[in-house]
Amino acid sequence: MLWPKSPRPDGQTTGRLLQEALELARPHLAEGRPADYIPELAGADPTRLGAALMADGRLYRAGDADLPFTMQSIAKAFALILALESIGTDALFQRVGAHPSEAPFNSLPAVIDGRCAPANPMLNAGCFVTLDSIPGEEVFPRFEARVLTLCGSGAIAPDEAVCRSEWATCTRNREILAVLQQAGALRRSPGEILELHIRTSALQVTACDLAFFGAVLGSGGLDPRSGRRLVDAGVVRIVCTILFQCGMYNASGPFALSVGLPAKSGVGGGIAAAGPGLGIGVYGPALDGCGNSVGGQKVLEHLSQALKLHWFDL
Ligand code: GLU
Repeated sequence: MLWPKSPRPDGQTTGRLLQEALELARPHLAEGRPADYIPELAGADPTRLGAALMADGRLYRAGDADLPFTMQSIAKAFALILALESIGTDALFQRVGAHPSEAPFNSLPAVIDGRCAPANPMLNAGCFVTLDSIPGEEVFPRFEARVLTLCGSGAIAPDEAVCRSEWATCTRNREILAVLQQAGALRRSPGEILELHIRTSALQVTACDLAFFGAVLGSGGLDPRSGRRLVDAGVVRIVCTILFQCGMYNASGPFALSVGLPAKSGVGGGIAAAGPGLGIGVYGPALDGCGNSVGGQKVLEHLSQALKLHWFDL
């Protein structure tokens, strides 16, 4: 799938644009700071900034594009893919909503008349239900294998120090799971889901990996290098729709206005975005109040404007 957009810039222009985007974003980094509710994330260097763009089988990179960081909430996009592939759209959306939400990512789910369907799969509550709906044993190794393939990466592993740090501070997530369990919204035990959530969130990726993933989504599910199908086009359609509305926490609306691309961010400082036949990955651990990378958003704003990537730039 190629969105009907203007002709592509050549490789030199793309490389220059990436550099330019980083320079424009740098002065804004001081406006944010690394997440500290998971103590291990607080040590990230807030001056780091990297961007990568995958288009036409080529990867362009600038700044700290090869620096690994934990994907955190970006794991929710992969969980959604796995759940849709395993049980299908109708079964999944009976258990979780598809509504944009203004609530923060870790808000408690609403339970109405004993029924609990979190607003969408990008909130922690919705992600817990999504993870719970992936059937079978050994979900983590399957998840890890899927991330490897969809990031075009050779190796991927959880950051064990971040896992330990999150285990020590995950009171809020335990509360959310308790509400879900009481409402009968879970099949697995809360402990099992929490373990899966913490390990998948701690998987380490780079901006280059996220650019590859964005390009898979931006091409309707194809490997950006070989053209081989990696994800069903119908699954990509749903994932991109959810990311467009809910992928940037409670700033998803303003981000849709300014950047206009399906994207998912994580409190590790990464953002993966899907453009027309291309993917963009950014890394910058200085976050704003919603949990989105300050530098990453500035980079995406610049690239979206310069390359006319906004979905509604018709
Ligand atoms: N591991 C994080 C948590 O549950 C993921 C948060 C995020 O990136 O939004 O709290």
